[in-house]
Amino acid sequence: MQTYEQSLEQAKQFLLEHDDFLVVSHIQPDGDAVSSTVAVGWLLSCLGKKFTLINEGSIPERMQFLLMSDQIVNMEQNPLERTFQHVICVDCADFGRVGLTERYFDNNAEILNIDHHPTNNGYGSVTLIKPDAAATAEILYDLINISNVTWNQEIATAIYTGLLTDTGGFRYSNTSPKVMAIASKLLDYGVNGPELSEQLLESMTHAQMKVLTKALRSLQMTDDGKISWVCITPQDMIDTGAANEDLEGIVNYPRNIQGVEVGILFKVINDQAVKVSMRSAGKVDVAALAQSFGGGGHVRAAGCKIEGAMETIVPEVIERVRSFL
Ligand code: 5GP
Ligand code: MN
Repeated sequence: MQTYEQSLEQAKQFLLEHDDFLVVSHIQPDGDAVSSTVAVGWLLSCLGKKFTLINEGSIPERMQFLLMSDQIVNMEQNPLERTFQHVICVDCADFGRVGLTERYFDNNAEILNIDHHPTNNGYGSVTLIKPDAAATAEILYDLINISNVTWNQEIATAIYTGLLTDTGGFRYSNTSPKVMAIASKLLDYGVNGPELSEQLLESMTHAQMKVLTKALRSLQMTDDGKISWVCITPQDMIDTGAANEDLEGIVNYPRNIQGVEVGILFKVINDQAVKVSMRSAGKVDVAALAQSFGGGGHVRAAGCKIEGAMETIVPEVIERVRSFL
């Protein structure tokens, strides 16, 4: 078993020894996914390497201020014409999370897997996985520090964004002393903390508020008050004009109710599939719960996609949660 320092060194060698990389994060990217993608892009550019940044879909609007975020290819709009031998996956707990971007990987592609999910299954030829890191951006902070490059305000802002969003504004239990120490350094590099909190966590579009209202109207709870959930249907998305990125944070509402152990958001994709987001108050390991449905994540925040109709999936998930209580 190699140490974290050895893994960091190995990842650095992977960057130094190869060239012409494809950098990818998970489908429907969150703050950490986007930050990690651009941070790797920035590091590669400092090292004089060629690279392409890509995601299966678009980058949420509120993150489009990040450096190099305009370079992340949206493959739905701009499909690539070629494949890559060297791929760097960031914040992807399992290989499937890269989505359709997989078609741009050579059949025998060498993959560097950088991630912080405890459920990461270690795919790839080189792995840099730190399950107790608050965000993948925290790992990239360390990788940048051993790479002899000079910090500036823009890259500091990207790393801060990953930390800020994955810790829910430095509030969740993953907010370690190390996270606070890193944040302090990043503020020294010129990061505007309050402005980022406002933009990434506080401010809402009208569509976001409308879809939140719909979700709260659907709120349900088990008789014992330990499980609470909300549902969002395709019709809700049409009625409110909301995009998937507008659903971020809604799952916290059922979880925040006093006495609730597990809060759930059921996002109906269509008649055949439902995306399930789960949040734990602390007792239940929702990563294990989500894994039992083929998903994954963290002990307190996890998700999965389940094939089937909402009418059958909701009771099935609630029953499974009960068995974990
Ligand atoms: P969210 O509920 O915000 O979509 O995701 C919460 C956490 O669970 C994130 O860390 C995310 O990476 C993980 N997660 C969400 N959906 C899936 C999934 O379908 N598969 C896996 N492996 N992880 C997921
Ligand atoms: Mn993350």
